[in-house]
Amino acid sequence: MAQFRNFRMVNYVIFGRGSFDQLDEILAPNRKNGAPMVFFVDYFFEGKPLADRVPLKGNDKLIYIDVTHEPKTSYVDKLAKDLKEEFGTVSGIIGIGGGSVMDLAKAVSLMMTNEGSSADYQGWDLVKKPGVYKVGIPTLSGTGAEVSRTCVLTGPTKKLGMNSDYTPFDQIVLDPELTANAPANQRFYTGMDCYIHCVESLEGTYLNEFSKSYGEKALELCQEVFLEKDTWDEESDDKLMMASYAGGMSIAYSQVGVTHAVSYGLSYLLGTKHGIGNCIVMNHLEEYYPEGTAEFKKMVEKNNIDIPEGICKDLTDEQFDTMINVSLGMKALWENALGADWEKIMTREKLRKLYKRL
Ligand code: NAD
Ligand code: ZN
Repeated sequence: MAQFRNFRMVNYVIFGRGSFDQLDEILAPNRKNGAPMVFFVDYFFEGKPLADRVPLKGNDKLIYIDVTHEPKTSYVDKLAKDLKEEFGTVSGIIGIGGGSVMDLAKAVSLMMTNEGSSADYQGWDLVKKPGVYKVGIPTLSGTGAEVSRTCVLTGPTKKLGMNSDYTPFDQIVLDPELTANAPANQRFYTGMDCYIHCVESLEGTYLNEFSKSYGEKALELCQEVFLEKDTWDEESDDKLMMASYAGGMSIAYSQVGVTHAVSYGLSYLLGTKHGIGNCIVMNHLEEYYPEGTAEFKKMVEKNNIDIPEGICKDLTDEQFDTMINVSLGMKALWENALGADWEKIMTREKLRKLYKRL
């Protein structure tokens, strides 16, 4: 058995304010025999100036992506099927948006070449063929989806990514200008995903110097923008975009932990979105991440953010069981957080009590 993870990374990275305007040039050599480039654009940008800057050529297609709900396998399958019916094949898929749109772009790229349903590939290294060329362009910073080897999907039986060497983007465009319009609450929730990635990676048992180097840098950048600066400015957008990148690199070689394991249960049962779900959980994790939780609370206060409370108060025993099952299924996360004996530490009863507090 291999001892060390040998992971694929994104092939090309461009960073800088206004770098989005180089997209046309970047795509040109990747256009194949008249097959179109397909742009998935977060529906927030419909009617906004960014939509007019998308470099459409020939039969290229722009599809606005509704991200009311986090990506589902059924949505991925439908997008891929429609594109195959309309074009046969495409030159590439470009995802412009937050983690949801970027994940959809990765998943649809893979489903343009792999048979069956995306639900068949939720897991580790199940994807058989490379997808079509894919580009990720974040408009929110924090998830690290721009660098990760997964795309998180909710399927008929589970919420799990298509983790594979074929999943990372071929190209990412990191243009901090694109995050400028994000509302303060959303920016915070997604930004905290990065902060939590750092805490979970740095406090985890899987930590090595590779993860630590990226995790420490990302943590420092989060502290600068959410604690030290008094107003949000362009530099904050630049820093948070690099924090997201480094935070993603940090967990690429380690793993997330308690917050993510618990928030996956919320998301599966209640549809709670990833960023806010993580915040709801992190608010109650003094026992596992004492320093991280205290600092998180300072960030919440300083940035005047509302973190919902009491979201589990009316749930039935059966519903708690569902969340516990989903959460305890994330074995690697628990092992990273609590060590090899995690099952003795995080019992069903203990987890139930934690869920009851949220
Ligand atoms: P999101 O993509 O779900 O978007 C949240 C909201 O912000 C949406 O309403 C969207 O329209 C809006 N939005 C996006 N950009 C905006 C902008 N510039 N200005 C104003 N509004 C904007 O949010 P997210 O937190 O970036 O992503 C969450 C998703 O990422 C979840 O589906 C989660 O599972 C996934 N995720 C993936 C990975 C990975 O490694 N692949 C890691 C973490 C999270
Ligand atoms: Zn996360």
